[in-house]
Amino acid sequence: MVLNIGWFPHSTMQQIRTHRVGVSFDVQSFRYTGSRILDVASGKQAVEEVFYLRPLGFYSDRQGKKYEYTAEQRQQDLDWCLAASRHYQTRIEQGFSEEHARGLIPFDIRQHWVMSANVRSLMHLLDLRWKADAQLEAQKMCEQIWPHFQAWVPAIAAWYEENRLKKARLAP
Ligand SMILES: Cc1cc2nc3c(=O)[nH]c(=O)nc-3n(C[C@H](O)[C@H](O)[C@H](O)COP(=O)(O)OP(=O)(O)OC[C@H]3O[C@@H](n4cnc5c(N)ncnc54)[C@H](O)[C@@H]3O)c2cc1C
Repeated sequence: MVLNIGWFPHSTMQQIRTHRVGVSFDVQSFRYTGSRILDVASGKQAVEEVFYLRPLGFYSDRQGKKYEYTAEQRQQDLDWCLAASRHYQTRIEQGFSEEHARGLIPFDIRQHWVMSANVRSLMHLLDLRWKADAQLEAQKMCEQIWPHFQAWVPAIAAWYEENRLKKARLAP
């Protein structure tokens, strides 16, 4: 199955790329695709179309410490992304290469990648990334993949749903 995945944050791509067996990836590098950062700087694209920030709400860290991501903090972070895009633009205008200037932008820029997987390896990925302690964005990605998996192999998907989905069973 070949999946065209878009708009997930860079960190989700990094997490998903840890699954190497039976999965292959082509990931955008930003060496040749930096124009959308310039579009943010010039106001042609909204900050959130290009950079990912988590929704407002309550979160906890891995030690269980709870915190709130407030509207004020989120706005500050949006401003930060915009300022960094403008800084990127300045460096590009000064002649920097894209692979040099990309190091200045916030980490969770939205990524696009093509991923191919076989049934077994995709179920392994869903086992690990759709369980409750996986990161929010990875779980959301599994949610998006799921209807395609169901359409691709309906009988296996029905078995998977009954026996394994979100059950955090040890991967085969
Ligand atoms: C909730 C969650 C949190 C995580 N947190 C962290 C973290 O904090 N830090 C971090 O570094 N990583 C983290 N990871 C990533 C994790 O350590 C693995 O890198 C990731 O799950 C991919 O390994 P895999 O075995 O699932 O997949 P694959 O590499 O695709 O392997 C699939 C299966 O193939 C077999 N296999 C693969 N390689 C070998 C081998 N060399 N020899 C024999 N058998 C092999 C195993 O059965 C394996 O399970 C996290 C993963 C999850 C799901």
